[in-house]
Amino acid sequence: MSAIRKVYIKSYGCQMNVYDSRRMADTLAREGFAETQLPEDADLVILNTCHIREKAAEKVYSELGRMRVLKTKAAADGRRLMIAVAGCVAQAEGEEIVRRAPMVDVVVGSQSYHRLPDLITRAAHGPVVETEFPIEDKFDHLADPAPSVIRARGVTAFVTVQEGCDKFCTFCVVPYTRGAEVSRPAAKIIAEVARLTDAGVREITLIGQNVNAYHGQGPDGRTWTLGTLLSRVSEIPGVERLRYTTSHPRDVDDSLIAAHRDIAALMPQLHLPVQSGSDRILAAMNRRHTGADYLRVIERLRSVRPDMAFTSDFIVGFPGESEQDFCDTLRIVDDVRYAAAFSFKYSARPGTPAADRIDQVAEPDKIERLARLQERIESHRQSFNAQCRGKILPVLFERHGRLPGQLVGRSPYLQPVQTMAPRSLIGEIVDVEITAVGSNSLFGSLDPGLNRTTRPAVQRA
Ligand code: SAM
Ligand code: SF4
Repeated sequence: MSAIRKVYIKSYGCQMNVYDSRRMADTLAREGFAETQLPEDADLVILNTCHIREKAAEKVYSELGRMRVLKTKAAADGRRLMIAVAGCVAQAEGEEIVRRAPMVDVVVGSQSYHRLPDLITRAAHGPVVETEFPIEDKFDHLADPAPSVIRARGVTAFVTVQEGCDKFCTFCVVPYTRGAEVSRPAAKIIAEVARLTDAGVREITLIGQNVNAYHGQGPDGRTWTLGTLLSRVSEIPGVERLRYTTSHPRDVDDSLIAAHRDIAALMPQLHLPVQSGSDRILAAMNRRHTGADYLRVIERLRSVRPDMAFTSDFIVGFPGESEQDFCDTLRIVDDVRYAAAFSFKYSARPGTPAADRIDQVAEPDKIERLARLQERIESHRQSFNAQCRGKILPVLFERHGRLPGQLVGRSPYLQPVQTMAPRSLIGEIVDVEITAVGSNSLFGSLDPGLNRTTRPAVQRA
């Protein structure tokens, strides 16, 4: 094999992209590529892009400007630096990327990145654009990470169980960039989780664009729901904590409610985007539920897990949104009392139905509503965090903190918790008394008499 080449991968956007970037790194490792954190050292730079909002694509083009400088410098030093654009911008823009940024060597869509080794070879003779949705399943062609690589990535891991979306919300590009909903067979997911936990992973998050629409083939030949899958995954030795994201309120079925009631490892926190509290806007968004439907789902989940914490996504300034519609959104924030939430100004995405509407909301109104919404969300977040003061929470320690002797972990509700603790506790779930609440983290202290709820941590890399 030739000398080790280096790949630098920059991920934009959601957890799905973080997962895809890791699978790209694993697949390129098989071809002799080692990962580097320094683009200037790389032989191959991959920008794994996100297309969800307008600025995301523009960020990619400005990053490509910086990469062009590196490429020119590498050439002056007698090296060839290859540049690849992957992910949803690649899928959506295809050839246009090479036209706007001619130094790009490879453009590869989200469904075909398993072909990267071949594409890189072909790009020796000129730019290659691959944005087909291939018939083969990319997961069958991706390399698995070595146990040492899994350990170096930490004690939490994402596993993609479902890709694509059939919901066609009128603001969203995902059904066009990621394609139709496809669920991976349960046996393959189970094998992937077992590989991760064997190497020391303690928390698994099952991910998908619309994860609770999961309908994969079970080993028993039947179609499994997400609830059934969660139940089976929770039985895999080493799975101490289980989460899933991102869910659609319409797809919360009885089996998922039962999963929250019955599975101890399933954490009492759920990201359940509502987008708006106005029924008029929800209908225009094609969300296919009302505010009341959404609140009923929240109530059902809280009835089986009273400590359930919710997070959400919101869009302000969707076309036609009036002040009254916006006030309905503020009301739903107060009703649910979210532990945290993301909020965005509506961004018109070419090719989506809402982009063509003539009743676009003026930018100053969007800015003003976003500020009001964020203030309301923030006040609920602070109340939620303040309630944790004085409580004892089980914390999964993930990594070193900024201070010597400090570890950072997560509470069941996904809050970062900073504690003075020995490094041997990384990978363990330990009871921590919450002593203070900061702006972004909780602070806690270990009581030597308090419980450790997992087996000793495996040897860390
Ligand atoms: N599948 C998830 C759902 O059903 O809510 C969301 C997926 S999307 C990757 C993440 C978030 O981006 C959305 O929940 C929405 O709030 C936001 N988003 C998507 N398209 C947007 C747009 N055109 N303008 C502003 N925000 C948008
Ligand atoms: Fe986009 Fe989510 Fe709607 Fe699917 S359900 S179209 S991913 S916002």
